[in-house]
Amino acid sequence: MPDEHRRAEHPAAGRRGAKPAGGPTPPTPHLSWGSSLHAALEWFWDRKLPEPPSADELAAALYDRWDDTGFADMSRQDKIGWYRHAQDVLRRHQAQHAPSYRPAAAVEQWFDVDLGDRVRVRGFIDGVMPTGDGGFGIVDWKTNRRAKTREQVETSLQLALYALAARDLWGRDPDWVALEFVVPGIRVEVPIERIDVDAAVAEVHRVAAAIRAGRFSPTPNRLCGWCDFRDICPAFEGDDGATDVPGTALVELQRLRRRQERDAQRIAELEQIVRDRLGEQALVEIG
Ligand code: SF4
Repeated sequence: MPDEHRRAEHPAAGRRGAKPAGGPTPPTPHLSWGSSLHAALEWFWDRKLPEPPSADELAAALYDRWDDTGFADMSRQDKIGWYRHAQDVLRRHQAQHAPSYRPAAAVEQWFDVDLGDRVRVRGFIDGVMPTGDGGFGIVDWKTNRRAKTREQVETSLQLALYALAARDLWGRDPDWVALEFVVPGIRVEVPIERIDVDAAVAEVHRVAAAIRAGRFSPTPNRLCGWCDFRDICPAFEGDDGATDVPGTALVELQRLRRRQERDAQRIAELEQIVRDRLGEQALVEIG
């Protein structure tokens, strides 16, 4: 959930009828690459074992999860280049984190927080990391090349809303929140005391109120092509093909399907536990 997406309810919601023209197109190489890396990272941190997966296991996870769709028109040599780069990034990630590895308490954690006044915030938290002393931190993996500064991380609306989501989900604040730039291998971690959750909530309400009052000044940005309101937005300068809307949709769809598979697996495990301890009837009773 990038900070550019300061979405709230929009007066035009539901009025938009037009869909992006054309049929589905494959994602860009960057989208496929980021999606593949993300899937491997989720696998790495979502282990239920205390030992870290080895570099070879992580490489195999990348192989199994590699999304080739964005590389369709690319030469074999170029494809290999992208794949090798992903392997290198993950090898460094494994080496960096293996010595202090603790499996995540949750990955791809869905949240849906009601902020009141008909404003909701929904999204996924990439990783919820146990600290070892009963606390937890929140990490968001970024696959862009350049890391942000500590000041930028501290003022990230995204992380502040994640902290709020944690409070809503588990009744307590995380100890820290972090953006982890996996390409340069930099995790920018800031203690929760540096995060102004109240200001983030106020900002969301401010934006929502402004939109409802018709004071919605559009600010074109790189995510315009992904915006639900671009068909009626006076500032939208047209989709010149630079924004990969269907590709982004495909990546999100893949992400949701991965989550669905993980949930189904966990449901089966829990059902087995209940069946073993309480018998088949207990499952029937809970429906
Ligand atoms: S299309 Fe308009 S409303 Fe949507 S993000 Fe771009 S500037 Fe904002």
